[in-house]
Amino acid sequence: MIATEHPVNDFIRAAESALTDPAAVSQRDMLARATPLLRQHAVAEFGEFEALRQHLKRVRRHTLENLDHYLPRFELEAIRNGNQVHFADSGDEMNAIVLDICRQHGARRIAKGKSMVTEETELAAALQRERMEVVETDLGEYIIQLAGEKPAHIVGPARHKTIAQIRQLFLDHHKLGSRELDSAESLVAEARQIMRKHFLEAEVGIIGANALIAENGYSMLVTNEGNGDLCANLPRTLIVCTTFDRILPRGEDAAALQRLLARSATGQRQTCYTSYYSGPRREVEGSGPVETHIILLDNHRSDLLDGPFHEMLDCIRCGACLNHCPIFAAAGGQAYGSVYPGPMGSVLAPLLESLETHAALPDACTSCGRCEEVCPASIPLPGLLRELRREKSQRGIGSSRWRLGLRLHAWLACHPALYRWATGLAIRSLNWLGRRRGVFHRLPFASGWTGQRDFPSPQRGTFMQQYAARERHREHEQ
Ligand code: SF4
Repeated sequence: MIATEHPVNDFIRAAESALTDPAAVSQRDMLARATPLLRQHAVAEFGEFEALRQHLKRVRRHTLENLDHYLPRFELEAIRNGNQVHFADSGDEMNAIVLDICRQHGARRIAKGKSMVTEETELAAALQRERMEVVETDLGEYIIQLAGEKPAHIVGPARHKTIAQIRQLFLDHHKLGSRELDSAESLVAEARQIMRKHFLEAEVGIIGANALIAENGYSMLVTNEGNGDLCANLPRTLIVCTTFDRILPRGEDAAALQRLLARSATGQRQTCYTSYYSGPRREVEGSGPVETHIILLDNHRSDLLDGPFHEMLDCIRCGACLNHCPIFAAAGGQAYGSVYPGPMGSVLAPLLESLETHAALPDACTSCGRCEEVCPASIPLPGLLRELRREKSQRGIGSSRWRLGLRLHAWLACHPALYRWATGLAIRSLNWLGRRRGVFHRLPFASGWTGQRDFPSPQRGTFMQQYAARERHREHEQ
């Protein structure tokens, strides 16, 4: 991992502040209850989810282990289709390539589709610094752009916004005179009206890719709004910003991925639009881009290929782990301080930026295991988070008090007799001290717990003492 100059991400403080807004907390709570049900229904109805999940895992493993074959094959086929293929080591390099293409075409207006890769490289800001007008055309991304915020979720970037908040943003930013805008339908209609102009005027369209197909050099994109197709087909120049880990050998592998992705992300059988892009328009075709570019970003991903975190490259960005994570539900996506929030982001952000920058994220986990259970790519997220915590401790990153406490605990755990004596003594003391009220409002060294809730006073002995007593009781009864 490479240390970078990113400011240190204070997840704990951001999460604390996110918990102070009751309306936002209840909106997140509602989403945390509803979204898992959509996935659950879609998976149960499908019936082949597990088999397809295992199949795709094998295909992705095979592809990444044989990247020296599939990457040049994809490049060759894409060039044969008329695309120009670029490789970018870093985010800055990718932004510079895009900027260069835009300048070559004298582009002033860019229609941009949803792409986490471009969020990662902060492409829109880089283009805007050069006085280019960049309009996010995914409705969620557009709302976030108007609000000047970062996406709160990798699939639903503006899902934390209420209709009233979106209405206010539209009234503030769209100079369309007085109007009601009192329903979701009227908001969508207005966004459509505003965006149509941008689609028609943009000289360059930028989109991402959900899969790259090595056998024919195509890229696959799924959307629910069709904005990706308008970005790809109306401007004369198209740029696909993506990463090498999207490569799959065959078209049927991309279709398999799509079946898992839609169900895991939104509980749909199919997204509304699934598009395959081959390259620039051919002579016989009356529409489509005249010039197409595909940029493959690395940004430390190749460092992961042979290491303990290689499975993170299997992620298909469905967001299911976010939807099932109690920490994400409580803190919200923006508290993570990274474009990739939730369990997948808590692994990915430290790997793509640095563990020093995102030192708190590997601890943002209750080890409930729901993320691994629902992940369509079977990524062992809790295990990877544990591995990051181990690395953190080995490299001396994070609070020294916390590390000292963990070292003391590890030492005690290696001396079972002493451990039993010390925990027995602590439990008896807490029981004696808290016997009147039954709870502690404050405890030394545990303010992180008692700051938000009371700590129940222990009523009986330690777990081991209770277990031993139960065993003795059983033996006695036999
Ligand atoms: S880690 Fe798994 S569940 Fe989370 S976004 Fe990636 S594929 Fe989806």
